[in-house]
Amino acid sequence: MDQTLDRAAVDPLRLIGTGLPLAELGESVCAAVAERAPGLGAVLVMLDHSSRLLEIVATRAVDVEATDRAFPLGRGGGPIGLAVTADETVVGSSDWAARRSPGALVAAAPIPHDGAPVGALVAVGAESLLDEACLLHLQACAQLIGLVAGRTDDSRLTVEPVTGLPDRTALTSIIERRDGLGSSCATILIETGRDCPLSATELADTLRDAARPTDRVFWIDERRHLVLSSHANGPDDVETAVGRFMRALCERGSQMTADIGAVIHHAPYAPATLIEQALSCPSTPLDCDQPAVSDPRAVQLMQRATMEEIDAALARGEIRAAYQPIVTVMDGTTVGVEALARWHHATGERQPDDFVPVLEAAGQVRRLTEAMLVSACRDLAGWQRDGVVPDGFTVSVNVSATELSYADFPDRVSRILRRQGTNPANLRVEITETAALSDRPRAIQVLTELRALGVSVALDDFGTGYATFASLRSLPIDVVKIDQSFIRSLPDRASETVVHSVIDLAGVLGLRVVAEGVELPEHLDFIRTAGVDLAQGYLFSPPATPGEISRQLASA
Ligand code: C2E
Ligand code: CA
Ligand code: CA
Repeated sequence: MDQTLDRAAVDPLRLIGTGLPLAELGESVCAAVAERAPGLGAVLVMLDHSSRLLEIVATRAVDVEATDRAFPLGRGGGPIGLAVTADETVVGSSDWAARRSPGALVAAAPIPHDGAPVGALVAVGAESLLDEACLLHLQACAQLIGLVAGRTDDSRLTVEPVTGLPDRTALTSIIERRDGLGSSCATILIETGRDCPLSATELADTLRDAARPTDRVFWIDERRHLVLSSHANGPDDVETAVGRFMRALCERGSQMTADIGAVIHHAPYAPATLIEQALSCPSTPLDCDQPAVSDPRAVQLMQRATMEEIDAALARGEIRAAYQPIVTVMDGTTVGVEALARWHHATGERQPDDFVPVLEAAGQVRRLTEAMLVSACRDLAGWQRDGVVPDGFTVSVNVSATELSYADFPDRVSRILRRQGTNPANLRVEITETAALSDRPRAIQVLTELRALGVSVALDDFGTGYATFASLRSLPIDVVKIDQSFIRSLPDRASETVVHSVIDLAGVLGLRVVAEGVELPEHLDFIRTAGVDLAQGYLFSPPATPGEISRQLASA
């Protein structure tokens, strides 16, 4: 178990979700491998589809010289891979795990992605240095590079066959994974006229050529293409991008007609909503005499609810908690619920993504937190009156990062608990990994005070932020929640590695683990085998009203 805590496991996990380009990650990983012992060097290479050397991404403490066939490593080492004797690059046969060659100076681990190696992480050094622990480290690092390579490698997305452009499924998966997207992103919808003079491939090439490095072009249907700009620095920047596409289309001839519109979206992104907004945005017709955005509405800033509306909704009690059960993996017993804010609006139920970021930006999120804490205490009291609450039952309330910056937060929680007559042991607060790490000393202080009250703490969305495994160790927490993105992508080797690593570490630290977003029986099978103890997701129940929760608990 101790191994889990040494740098071997800690370093690669630190890199998840950092959003760094592969080259920079490669540098960090190679440095981490080389730092294991003096005399060790490391190389990260990527391979093409026939397992030939494509690129040496990073090296540390070793001289590498690539030729088109062989791949000799410095200090007398042969080419990497299984057959160190051949003067050919043999990296990438699919059946090798991390291994070293007999008596050799090199050990290599394949970088898996979608079941095939897309590269290798290689350690170079004396045989004694390339021990079992080193191989384990290489393998863990390689798996995580695979995760990152998968995130950034558009060539592996599903594509429309004629144009080779990624399609709508690819778009959804990129938004879901928030792959490379900043806190704001933009979509540009280009709808060409019925009698477009360009063939599908000519049109695709034109759009591809006009795209900036941060733009990705998607095929929606014969007439519609969508450009996703990973970062939107305000309407002016988006107008400039729109102008580029307009000019590029105009250059293809005067018969070109199109309507173009853009939307700026803000994180967090919900794929279905984002795509719907992107495809229904107001547009401006292409005018080749003046290829620029003529109608300012054509660049639409997605409006969220205003602070005034939310204010009124909170005052009228329209924002209330829905509760999603958290169950044991072993037998499905509900051991707690998570409170999720729902706005019961005249036009229908509104989701937290519509209003939580507005409250956060306005510095008003404490009003929501208090409303949710009060709801949680009252609904718990109701369930207790119904006699359906088992021992040790917890209600989890989400707490925004900004709450941790208020030193009086534990006092406010304590006052609410006292006023509502709630046992603190029944309350759990969920904070995101990013929140806990942005001002660590403050977070540690606030969380320590909360736990002193008897309230437990869960670290939410684990794996999406910058937490190192080492930093987890010093956080005063009781539970880690593995982010949904890892569960949803199961079965997937990289996600499996993450799940296993979290469980190992949690075991060492005495933390409980919740797997979130469990939607399918396959997900449950995997986490059960892996040893996750708690789960939450649509497979068991969607978020439900307090009345429904009472009925569910009663019938258990
Ligand atoms: P979260 O804390 O990670 O909450 C889990 C989200 O995943 C919820 O979305 C839940 O409805 C959804 N979910 C649960 N099971 C599944 C599943 O099997 N599959 C999928 N695809 N999704 C599942 P929701 O309610 O839209 O909340 C979104 C986020 O808004 C929450 O993420 C949380 O960060 C934030 N939030 C919700 N309520 C509050 C609140 O009262 N205060 C604050 N500060 N943030 C809140
Ligand atoms: Ca949560
Ligand atoms: Ca979560």
